[in-house]
Amino acid sequence: MIKVSLISLGCAKNLVDSEIMVGHLHQAGMKVIPEAELADVVIVNTCSFIDSSKEESIGHILEVHQNKGMKKRRKEQKLIVAGCMAQRFSKDLSNSLHDEVDAFIGLDQVTKVAPIIEAIYAKERGKNGPKEAPVNFIEGKSTYIPDYDTPRFRLTPAHFAYVKIAEGCNHPCTFCIIPQIRGRHRSRTVDSVVQEARQLVREGVKELNLISQDTTFFGMDTWEQRPNPRTPVDSSRGTALTTLLRELNAIEGDFWIRLLYTHPAHWSDELIKTIAECPKVARYIDIPLQHISDNMLARMQRETSGDYIRDLIKRIRAGIPGIAVRTTFIVGFPGETDADVAELCEFIKATKFERLGVFRYSQEEGTRGAKMPDQIAPKVKEARWHKLMALQQEIAGQVSKSYVGQTLKVLVEEPGVARGEADAPDIDGRVYVPRELPVGEFVDVKITGYQDYDLLALPKGEQPAEFKVAKQAQ
Ligand code: SF4
Repeated sequence: MIKVSLISLGCAKNLVDSEIMVGHLHQAGMKVIPEAELADVVIVNTCSFIDSSKEESIGHILEVHQNKGMKKRRKEQKLIVAGCMAQRFSKDLSNSLHDEVDAFIGLDQVTKVAPIIEAIYAKERGKNGPKEAPVNFIEGKSTYIPDYDTPRFRLTPAHFAYVKIAEGCNHPCTFCIIPQIRGRHRSRTVDSVVQEARQLVREGVKELNLISQDTTFFGMDTWEQRPNPRTPVDSSRGTALTTLLRELNAIEGDFWIRLLYTHPAHWSDELIKTIAECPKVARYIDIPLQHISDNMLARMQRETSGDYIRDLIKRIRAGIPGIAVRTTFIVGFPGETDADVAELCEFIKATKFERLGVFRYSQEEGTRGAKMPDQIAPKVKEARWHKLMALQQEIAGQVSKSYVGQTLKVLVEEPGVARGEADAPDIDGRVYVPRELPVGEFVDVKITGYQDYDLLALPKGEQPAEFKVAKQAQ
């Protein structure tokens, strides 16, 4: 039996690709093991969104090849590079990683991973002599999208799952390379997603995280195909997502539906109303805004203006009481002025985002932003990054303080650690709870304290071990 080990890097969409690969490896009778050094085949599912993620991917490939520094991996062990970096750079990497890599597979080969492994072995059988160039199994632009019955082995904890409702992106953001890697936007059908969600809820999943590159564009490429939409066609945009949310909300059971990766340009009053009327949809919105100044939004081609965004956030907050809004901004995009940064700081102060991340602009080869004049010096980027993070740390403390005394429904992630409705997996805060609370279950807890982004729901004066360590470290 062939033993395979898979290293999954990058975003939740890439994780779903890894889960699909593991599902197909199991289906082919191959064994998937965590120890790369013991495996016959190692797959590194890479990310290449920005420079740091490319470096991380290369780092893992070399670490596997050097067998964690034990000089060299076993001659017969195969190393396959998958994911965004393979899809984007396989031709260049075939030369630079000639000795390390045996094959490159793309985003559309995730369902063919087992026969690809067999093909690599078949090709080698009875052969000696020098290592041949990596085999490239990538076939052009990515168009694949999974379905509800696609073999898949979930790699997330049992109580939450990512549901990829679409793939690819049609937006022209000038800083982003994703459309060139993941292709044009293609949505699954409402029925396909609902079937998958039903199955996951039957398996005991308590949180369905809806993901894609632009979740709010869901169905805008396919909606006409649906035979007889029950909900009247809304004159504005995006009826498929509102229909999907209503159908997911109608599924029996106690679970959260979390909307991730929404784009401001595709929000509608209908969507705001639908979220407000669907109690299973978490009171949480992830809406990367990237900037607020019209100068920057135009250069980034975000298809929105500062006033449109300000008005949208107001409508979302008014229409969905208690909503927590997560966003991300980019600082240091070409042409960004001090005035642009000042406007952004004012906007952050006024809006008080519950959750906020900041990226330093990464000059990505192949994007239009990379060729723009007025690139910003790294030192200036750094200073702007620190300015925004310091501002948000203050706001985060105020937001956390506002929860003290409230009783919150939380999902216990591990002994002593939970997440609230305002915390998405892996990117947001934690709620520290008594260790005896059941993992994977919802519990109501009273918030007794906080520290920066994290909340405490512990008897007065009790502190989680992590805090004590942090305090000692200070
Ligand atoms: S919406 Fe923009 S930033 Fe997001 S994946 Fe598409 S092109 Fe990239």
